[in-house]
Amino acid sequence: MTDMTDMTDPARSEPIRYRVDLTDRVQHLVRVTVTVPSDLASDARIVLSVWTPGSYVVRDYVHHVQWIRAEAPDGRQVALRPDGGTAWRLPADLDGPVDVTLELYANELTVRTNHVDDHHALLIPAATFPYVEGGEDRPHEIHLPAAPTGHRVFSLLPATDAPDTYLAEHRDHLIDSAFEVGDLPRVDFEVAGVPHVFVWAGHGGTPDLPRVARDATAIGEACVALFDGALPTDRYTFLTVGADEGGGGLEHRDGAVLQMPIRVFQDDELYRRFQSLIAHEYLHLWNVKRLVPAALVRPGYDRPTRSESLWVAEGWTAYYDELLPTRAGLWTVRQLLDTLQTTAQRVRDTPGTRLQSLRQASYEAWTKHYVRDENSPNAMTDYYGHGSLVAFELDLRLRAADPDGDGLDTVFRLLWDRHAGQEAGYTEADVLSAIAEVGGDPLAALIDTRVGTAGAPELDDIVTAVGLTWSSAEGPTPPHLGVEARDDDRGVIFGSVLRDGPAWQAGLTGGDQLIAIDGRVVGSGQLKVTLLAHQAGDTVEVAVRRGPRLLLLPVTLGEPVPASRLGPSPSAGDLQREAFRRWTGHPLPAA
Ligand SMILES: [Zn+2]
Repeated sequence: MTDMTDMTDPARSEPIRYRVDLTDRVQHLVRVTVTVPSDLASDARIVLSVWTPGSYVVRDYVHHVQWIRAEAPDGRQVALRPDGGTAWRLPADLDGPVDVTLELYANELTVRTNHVDDHHALLIPAATFPYVEGGEDRPHEIHLPAAPTGHRVFSLLPATDAPDTYLAEHRDHLIDSAFEVGDLPRVDFEVAGVPHVFVWAGHGGTPDLPRVARDATAIGEACVALFDGALPTDRYTFLTVGADEGGGGLEHRDGAVLQMPIRVFQDDELYRRFQSLIAHEYLHLWNVKRLVPAALVRPGYDRPTRSESLWVAEGWTAYYDELLPTRAGLWTVRQLLDTLQTTAQRVRDTPGTRLQSLRQASYEAWTKHYVRDENSPNAMTDYYGHGSLVAFELDLRLRAADPDGDGLDTVFRLLWDRHAGQEAGYTEADVLSAIAEVGGDPLAALIDTRVGTAGAPELDDIVTAVGLTWSSAEGPTPPHLGVEARDDDRGVIFGSVLRDGPAWQAGLTGGDQLIAIDGRVVGSGQLKVTLLAHQAGDTVEVAVRRGPRLLLLPVTLGEPVPASRLGPSPSAGDLQREAFRRWTGHPLPAA
């Protein structure tokens, strides 16, 4: 039966159908055909997204389009003309469906870009499936046969009864659901009774699948406990890619794409970062994917969509991605404190922290955070690290006021109960009012100031709320040079030169390759020991290579930057010990 509601309800209109052809995967080519339904075909605008959710930068995926053409069902070519840089338009007066096919080059292995080769195929929907304007709310159906034989498809979308076919409720659901194809190791497990699968698409590597299943289960349970309720999905998929280097993650509605170097299972420090990455992307199942900043609810994908709330969306998630592995018993308390003190030091010592507020950093993610250069530490703050410290300060202040309470967990739950799945999402005002409700108006006003004003949060005294204290780190501290240095095959490279520091005043610049200090060659890994041989106030001659030039510059070394250590306070009382236990799930270690 057909009635008028059938015709106007997008969910019951003819779906937008896609076919994916991986025949030439070895050449890194993917062909995608979208069938534009009859009723949308005339003058239809076909758009390839310019960004993917969770990664706030215009990526211009159109760069990878090799060719595009349109065809009627009888094989007749249909004219297709460009309409802006990332869209095409079909002619008017079409009376049937039209197949639009693009060939995409896919050879960039990150969590935000497509990569297909002999080993696997990672398909990021924003980069792969052009959408049909006006059809965004219709179901989107993907036909993706695995190739070659022996490979299988891992989809974040539910499969339909038709073979090799997956169904998205609408365009945004499709854009939020990556695909992986290959003959890949996997492990299945459950969190809160919900099936989970972890798929390893490392190009080589020896994954410890039982360990991942164990750890991801523990992290998942810690997340469920945080929100004090059920898991907000009925299936969850981790798609993990790996190569020599590179790491990161991208959250999707019912899963995540992760990337780690393939040695992650044999390197303890990397594996700890991997646990944190799992916690981070998993927490996005709540924070971001269902508790959504207002600006990011059903955003446009043909242009940047700016939000001032990334200090909550990413900052709070970054804070909990360290706390949750600790609560799950995977990290020791010492590892948590080490991570917090490192972040605090980094944010404090980054000149951009004093220039850009967190709110600005969030809004300017598209043009600053994701577009880095050697001057970035001088010009911007990081809404992940800096945001996590503001969350830490807020948590501490809440716990100071109520040592038997659950601190920031309570605010998070309140936001969840109020705004999860709401069409309007949440605004910063909603966050501040939840803070006020739990911690009072002055605390909400303080956090509003922290977020709106440049500068690091104040963590000096408030750490006593959970029985902690700062002390001077042990070990020698070299005189201050004021660079962010890294070691590579050439030796020591000054990645960035920090504004107003000794190197900056002497005229050194980001990108300089260090050759020698006071006539002594400084090789890879030798900068700190070389500086330790000098005193603050010494003027040394720094030799650097800058492009074709060799420069010799006198630099007067500054006072050492004090390194702080966060540890248990000898004067912690019972209230603080209880607050610590409620915060981390562990007893406060002996001072
Ligand atoms: Zn994130």
